[in-house]
Amino acid sequence: MRNDSIKVGVIGVGHLGQHHVKHYASIPNAELIGVFDENYERAKTIANSYGTIAFKDIDSLIIKTEAVSIVTPTKHHAKISERCLLKNNHIFIEKPITKTLEEADRLLLLAEEKHCLIQVGHIERLNPALTALNSFDLNPKFIEIQRLAPYTIRGTDVPVVLDLMIHDIDILLALVAFPVKEINATGLSILTNSVDIAHARINFSNGTVASVLSSRIAKDRQRKIKLFQKDLYATIDLLIGSTEIYRVEKTSEKNKGNETLMTKPFIYEGEKKIISYEKLNVIPKDALWMELENFIKSIQGKETPIVTGKDGRDALKVALEIQDIIIKDIN
Ligand code: NAD
Repeated sequence: MRNDSIKVGVIGVGHLGQHHVKHYASIPNAELIGVFDENYERAKTIANSYGTIAFKDIDSLIIKTEAVSIVTPTKHHAKISERCLLKNNHIFIEKPITKTLEEADRLLLLAEEKHCLIQVGHIERLNPALTALNSFDLNPKFIEIQRLAPYTIRGTDVPVVLDLMIHDIDILLALVAFPVKEINATGLSILTNSVDIAHARINFSNGTVASVLSSRIAKDRQRKIKLFQKDLYATIDLLIGSTEIYRVEKTSEKNKGNETLMTKPFIYEGEKKIISYEKLNVIPKDALWMELENFIKSIQGKETPIVTGKDGRDALKVALEIQDIIIKDIN
């Protein structure tokens, strides 16, 4: 192992945590020290699969590590994160950062005191179907997002807004660099005692409006974004990894090579225009691998975090506001 490698561990090796372990075993400059899970049998199975050690208690692991992923159910994030920060570990917390804003704020403060990084697993930010749009000058005025998932017991320790919708809230806050001005929301409990289906309309201070629907009781999975702005309409399918763009262009400007013309040239307000269609080249990449590599490189000062602790806290703040509106509406 190289001298500048970062000693890492994973806490919580269930459905998602096992993939953190798998990736750390292959990320350059990550030295996998071991795993901890309150289910020791599970920890042993995962540790054996990736040639590492299952620790019997959390402290024995985190005194040996410099950085950890925290991949336990959300209700444990705050307590475990605090413990790891106190032992001077940089932390990568799976989303949502915590259950409450007070917990998130406490962690951000403690991380600052300890000079430790917090990154949050808002993985969709690295989805290649979304990053394919990076070279476009985006200024969406209306955004529609749908995220539907079949019911599973995992994640139901928090309402659907904190489990699923928070992914899209994080995307929105990154896409629209203006403060949230007003939120309307509605939701229902169908299968669990908390909210299983939620809809929010979010108005930003620059006039952008977003409509976000999340459900964990759908038959099939769906994760779609539609963006509308002057002269541009984009559809993004985060699940299958597809991004399509429709643009109104002046015929004199149109010569990018990959587009198909949807219309014959037409005259609008004295200018010759066309509507073009382009399916972007979305190259499949493992977003979890990329975000963990970004974590390691950020600790080393070679990159900056793509999703910071503050980003995780900001997404949580909006999610909790939506959740509060829904709860008041239900009661
Ligand atoms: P899971 O239930 O499959 O796994 C959780 C694991 O944590 C289990 O092995 C459990 O034994 C262990 N655990 C529970 N309490 C613990 C404690 N106090 N100390 C140590 N280990 C403990 O859950 P999951 O689906 O892997 O979700 C874990 C986290 O990841 C949640 O916060 C969830 O929101 C998040 N998640 C994020 C995404 C994403 O897209 N970024 C996807 C799925 C889950």
